[in-house]
Amino acid sequence: MKCKICKKKIEKHFLKKPLGTYVKSEKGKKLIVCSNCQKQYKSKDKILAKME
Ligand SMILES: [Zn+2]
Repeated sequence: MKCKICKKKIEKHFLKKPLGTYVKSEKGKKLIVCSNCQKQYKSKDKILAKME
């Protein structure tokens, strides 16, 4: 599983949940973003803009 912005691999922790956040695109696609990019871009709109 890779971050959609920085393409870094997102590690899973012991509960098998990824260390990242899912962002839903306008088309309803679930996209994963690592916690670093989430901190950097903060809002969902900025994250989605960065992915395109
Ligand atoms: Zn990232």
